[in-house]
Amino acid sequence: MLNSDEVKRIALEVGFDDCGIARADALADEEYPLREWLRRGWHGGLDYMKRNVDKRMDPRLLVPGAKSVICLVSAYPPPKSGVREAESGKVAAYAQHREYHKVIKDMLFALKERLGIEGKCCCDTVPISDKHWAARAGLGWIGRHTLLVTERWGSWVNLGEIVTTEECSEYSECHGCPDFCAKCGRCVEACPNHAIAPDGPPMLDVSRCTAYYTTHQRREIPATVDAHGYTMGCDICQLACPFNAK
Ligand code: SF4
Ligand code: SF4
Repeated sequence: MLNSDEVKRIALEVGFDDCGIARADALADEEYPLREWLRRGWHGGLDYMKRNVDKRMDPRLLVPGAKSVICLVSAYPPPKSGVREAESGKVAAYAQHREYHKVIKDMLFALKERLGIEGKCCCDTVPISDKHWAARAGLGWIGRHTLLVTERWGSWVNLGEIVTTEECSEYSECHGCPDFCAKCGRCVEACPNHAIAPDGPPMLDVSRCTAYYTTHQRREIPATVDAHGYTMGCDICQLACPFNAK
């Protein structure tokens, strides 16, 4: 059995900014919003989201015998204005720094090795709902703009997980979704394309979202989408969030 405090200590040592550990269970409450999002066709051309829904909702199908999901946060600085913006249009904050997949993967493998455990390291390419696991592990909550919001770094974070068959001595509490978003809605108002659902479970219509075209699809932005000068990603809804202004 892994000592949870030890896992968190080593996670910080290998370079992560925060760590929480959730018991590997089905994401029962989170399944309806995902299926409803797909039913509405709000996934646009992200066809991979239609595949492996069962695995995405239950890490025990991803790693047989999984007992724990070790969730990791790596914070990055808020967007900086400057040369890159002036040269080639606006670049979202996450893309203004080192390619995060490699950085996170290196840290995940380092952590796994230090812990001496079997498990699957996940960073974007594995069907696992990273933000929901981070919320389950008590690291933040799902904002109305559908990203993880943390108390300390807002949504300027990248996420990674290790799904392992090891038990942990203690599991983090999910604090649920606080009431902030219901009273706020600033990201909904800020989005120039009305891509964010104003109520119900947090959901976003990707075919209205600039980041979908500039990040995931890498194709021409339709005339109906106002990119506000972004050529890589889009930070508008995140910039509106009071937790990112701290
Ligand atoms: S990333 Fe930009 S376009 Fe997409 S929801 Fe946020 S503000 Fe709207
Ligand atoms: S801007 Fe407001 S509604 Fe949107 S994620 Fe932040 S706190 Fe929630």
